Amino acid sequence: MKTCRTIASLRRALAAPIPGKGRVGFVPTMGYLHEGHLSLVRASRRENDLTVVSIYVNPSQFGPGEDLGRYPRDPRHDASQLRREGVDILFMPADAEMYPPGFRTWVDVTGLDGKLCGSSRPGHFRGVTTVVLKLFMLLKPQRAYFGQKDAQQARIIAQMIRDLNLPVRLRVLPIVRDADGLALSSRNVLLSVEERRAALALPKALRRARALIEAGERDSRALRAAMMAEISRQPLLAIDYIAVVRLEDLEETARVEPGNTLVAAAVRAGRTRLIDNTLSGEIEC
Ligand code: AMP
Repeated sequence: MKTCRTIASLRRALAAPIPGKGRVGFVPTMGYLHEGHLSLVRASRRENDLTVVSIYVNPSQFGPGEDLGRYPRDPRHDASQLRREGVDILFMPADAEMYPPGFRTWVDVTGLDGKLCGSSRPGHFRGVTTVVLKLFMLLKPQRAYFGQKDAQQARIIAQMIRDLNLPVRLRVLPIVRDADGLALSSRNVLLSVEERRAALALPKALRRARALIEAGERDSRALRAAMMAEISRQPLLAIDYIAVVRLEDLEETARVEPGNTLVAAAVRAGRTRLIDNTLSGEIEC
């Protein structure tokens, strides 16, 4: 595995022709890797000739007072996991590479970026889309791999790809969970034992919503109420949002439309924000 820390060295690594390594798969991450990330890496390895992973804790997607400073990092362990997975190139740029002095260009996917997570994290998705577009332009992947865990992010990236005619195929892969149901997240390590136990109400609430939908419930209010009851039983959790939205525009919907509905929730456990969702439909460009 070749590790590149500068854009110049990444360009050199990609320019050197590698026989039989035509199709490039790309997995953008913020590091502190877990099985969720590795599921994306494995899919990329299966479906492409060359796999590039980026590890970059992108400051522009963190707001003031958010957890940029305490975001968990372990680049050495990450690199050894990626080497073991057979990744070809690891790109780990410094901030000065991605945002040199005088940087002024931002990508806004209007309308989708202010809802759900965007309403409590203003500017977050603008940071995400800007850095992802930069990475797409540098790497020119045929396929890019994202997790359904961040469903709004995947929906927004799909919109950006469509609107800007980017020649990349989006692959959105299922949420990988711990044995007890909690969605894997780099931030889980920040939870205390009690917070982690309380956080299980989040996947439990989503399982309840899914079961209700499968049993024929279509009333969004009933779904939200059932999830609210589950989560509010945990005094350590503060609800950020519980939402039933249409996948196409992320607008709240009164009735579940099978094949076009995202049920998503975000909670705070102490200083740590956790998200999870269940999806009926496909996120595609
Ligand atoms: P992050 O490092 O948190 O920015 O995540 C990098 C990519 O991994 C994103 O596309 C996430 O959606 C995806 N991801 C994070 N957690 C999971 C998970 N539990 N299962 C599947 N994909 C995940």
